[in-house]
Amino acid sequence: ERLQPSRAADAVEGALQVVGAHFRLDNIEAVTQVEPDLPEVLCRQDQLEQVIINLLQNARDAIVEHRARAPAELPGRIRVSVACEPSGGPAGTVRIEVEDNGGGMPEAVIGRIFQPFFTTKPPGKGTGLGLSVSFGIIRDHGGSLTAANTAEGAVFTIRLPALVACG
Ligand code: ADP
Ligand code: MG
Repeated sequence: ERLQPSRAADAVEGALQVVGAHFRLDNIEAVTQVEPDLPEVLCRQDQLEQVIINLLQNARDAIVEHRARAPAELPGRIRVSVACEPSGGPAGTVRIEVEDNGGGMPEAVIGRIFQPFFTTKPPGKGTGLGLSVSFGIIRDHGGSLTAANTAEGAVFTIRLPALVACG
């Protein structure tokens, strides 16, 4: 499969179809916010979808883990948004955010999550490869993958060069 003009929102929808059934079983609600009139990105659609699946699975794992330590039942929430932002050049940047309420990461962990084989999950549960592979895929598309904490959890942001300007 080759690079082709793709809609990031289609990759998000495909990824949610793959993991959505599990979310319902785990009582996790996934909300999608897609801006209208988004420009396309040049990518391998299956690879972008795989990256989003990785991020969604990590979000789910964080929520389940956080829930086990929380005093009351935590309503799991994952928000996926797709938007366009100016890039400084003639074409825009498409931004995909995957945000969860799974408690986030200690600073020492954030600094290592993109390293191959880094995992905080028990043996057999995590390979520690998801984020390093995802990082490489997005970099190969000329984009970036970054992580940050929010008040309630973590947010992972994919940025990809768009084919034309926003809107
Ligand atoms: P794995 O999922 O196999 O552990 P990843 O490369 O996907 O490997 O993730 C590496 C580590 O990053 C995880 O073990 C976890 O500690 C941390 N992490 C990733 N996503 C999240 C998230 N949404 N919330 C909290 N921690 C996360
Ligand atoms: Mg993972």
